[in-house]
Amino acid sequence: MQRRGRAPARPAMAALLGGLRGLLVAVGPAAGPSRPWASLAPPGTRLFRQSCHRLVGPQASPEPGRSRLPEGVEYIPTRKAKNPMKPVGVAWYSLYARTRLGYLFYQRQVKKARERYPHGHSVPQPCRFPGLKILPIPVLSNNYSYLVIDTGSGRAAVVDPSDPLAVQAAIEEEGVMLEAIFCTHKHWDHSGGNAALCQQHGSCKVYGSALDAIPELTNPLADREKVSVGCLTFEALTTPGHTVGHMVYVLDGGPFGGPPCLFSGDLLFLAGCGRLFEGSPETMLASLDVAVGLGEDTLLWPGHEYALECLTFASLLELDNPALEQKLRWAMQQRQEKRSTCPSTLGEEQTYNPFLRTHRPELQAALGLRQGRGEHPDAFRARVLKEVRQRKDLYKAT
Ligand SMILES: [Zn+2]
Repeated sequence: MQRRGRAPARPAMAALLGGLRGLLVAVGPAAGPSRPWASLAPPGTRLFRQSCHRLVGPQASPEPGRSRLPEGVEYIPTRKAKNPMKPVGVAWYSLYARTRLGYLFYQRQVKKARERYPHGHSVPQPCRFPGLKILPIPVLSNNYSYLVIDTGSGRAAVVDPSDPLAVQAAIEEEGVMLEAIFCTHKHWDHSGGNAALCQQHGSCKVYGSALDAIPELTNPLADREKVSVGCLTFEALTTPGHTVGHMVYVLDGGPFGGPPCLFSGDLLFLAGCGRLFEGSPETMLASLDVAVGLGEDTLLWPGHEYALECLTFASLLELDNPALEQKLRWAMQQRQEKRSTCPSTLGEEQTYNPFLRTHRPELQAALGLRQGRGEHPDAFRARVLKEVRQRKDLYKAT
């Protein structure tokens, strides 16, 4: 683990991090997100406009037959050997992303994850607005697919269906018609289920970037292009950096009285961002700026459950950030119950996500970086991003 420029941790933060390191959780009351639509509500609570209540709360419990993890949080690290994206070099990445070997590896990962998490790695927490339902589907060891349903017509779209069996089970349980697959990028853990679902749903279209070799792609999209599925309208935004053709999708929440919903794939996670496999820090910074431009109330639905690791890493950079401390405490509580940590909001993310805080003097100081004389502010921010990303790549949480 690399911890350059680290100052002594404040007692509260040190206690939090110590708790995580030992995987022994001793936390106080959950500190929930500040946004109204991220508040908790008991299952069955009637939901009203302008609010998105998660169907979890004091009554929520793990799925039948599952243990409650009495030993504490199950940590989902990004860099265990099982993660296909671990940094083992360009050769491995090329094999994974561009060859059949990568597909075979993905299939093995799917099989192992189904055995290890027969009900998914997290407890699904649907989000409802009048006429709209967003259902996160936990797949593989830490991925999320999302089933987005126009509840009025029963038409649905899925984002990043990596495990076709899990997605198909959700489609059948919800009794909806799959019309579209929105694929953020080509990596198998986001696109591996495209073929099987297309076979099962003959009229289903596959949307994504033509630059990214997405399996079964039928409808290549351009930047800012919009697609309708029933009453749902998605806008595609090109966000290269993780891959050359990475795209995110923004669901217009307006018709349902809700905020925009960003399905960010591997561009942006809770407190984190994707690795720079096929782009420069400058490219990634520009893509993250596109996301931030969507507005603070935008709900963030990321491609992975990485919150604990990302928040812990961020806590090692910014030692005196109450918003970060509060979110980490909340995430520990969520994960102790195996609850998903999404969605957050882009407003929240800007208070603790170091990849969205490259302009903040406190982060720059923590990294020991100073803007050069005559250096353009964006060039400096890209340098800050590069440093944070490099430290994250080297970080090992356990
Ligand atoms: Zn990826």
